[in-house]
Amino acid sequence: MRKKIVAGNWKMNLNFEEAKALAGELKVKLDHQRGVVPAHKAVSSPEVVLFPPYVYLTRILDLFINDEGVSVGAQNCHHEDHGAHTGEVSAPMISSVGATHVIIGHSERRSQFGEDDELLAQKVKQALKSALVPVFCCGEMLPERENGKHFQVVTDQLLRGLFWMDEVQLAKVVIAYEPVWAIGTGVTASPGQAQEMHAHIRKLIGDTYSKGAAERMSVLYGGSCNAKNAAELFANPDVDGGLIGGASLKAADFFQIIKSLDGSQ
Ligand code: PEP
Repeated sequence: MRKKIVAGNWKMNLNFEEAKALAGELKVKLDHQRGVVPAHKAVSSPEVVLFPPYVYLTRILDLFINDEGVSVGAQNCHHEDHGAHTGEVSAPMISSVGATHVIIGHSERRSQFGEDDELLAQKVKQALKSALVPVFCCGEMLPERENGKHFQVVTDQLLRGLFWMDEVQLAKVVIAYEPVWAIGTGVTASPGQAQEMHAHIRKLIGDTYSKGAAERMSVLYGGSCNAKNAAELFANPDVDGGLIGGASLKAADFFQIIKSLDGSQ
């Protein structure tokens, strides 16, 4: 069975006191939940992955040390492993502090920092070399959807960004479908729109690699997913969880989203 994942992308939000309070509150809720619903009774426990800003990585990692249900990752990495790149952070650095995941190709990186699929492919290579799980984001902009180009856009992003790798490498990747028009806008993709794109992505993997590779791939939905709409989105057969922005900044909301996926609500 493929992994169910709920990931929180904190972006450039929260001072350190706020970040610690958020992670601490979430930890209390998760620990309590595990006590109330023993692992064997939960339908399936999703993996929780937190993506704090770089500077908080080690401190948030410390909070979840020995917690097998919670992983911590970075929101980005450089496409080289070291060098004269003032202000940048490499995949081996992220891995060396104990983080396990890295977001690559978030639409904000694509649009604000001009990251294209070729550069993102280099970043994915760096992540895999450092044994980090790349959470590779793809998704169309509104005019692309309105012009019926959304399937082609996502196909091209995956072909260029990911499909250069072999099947063994692909098994280490997580894909997040994030329609750009839904990110931070309060406009969510309907469950039907999410399902049809996730099914498209899975079919693409099946056609390019194998049925097994397609079945194993966790495909997360992202874009204004919140405590109210998560259950409906996650009920889709090809939606394996979510990459959550705004709603991951409130412990109660994020916890509710996690519960929407683990079958215990
Ligand atoms: C994101 O930035 O990955 C995201 C999904 O943001 P939001 O949930 O705020 O739309």
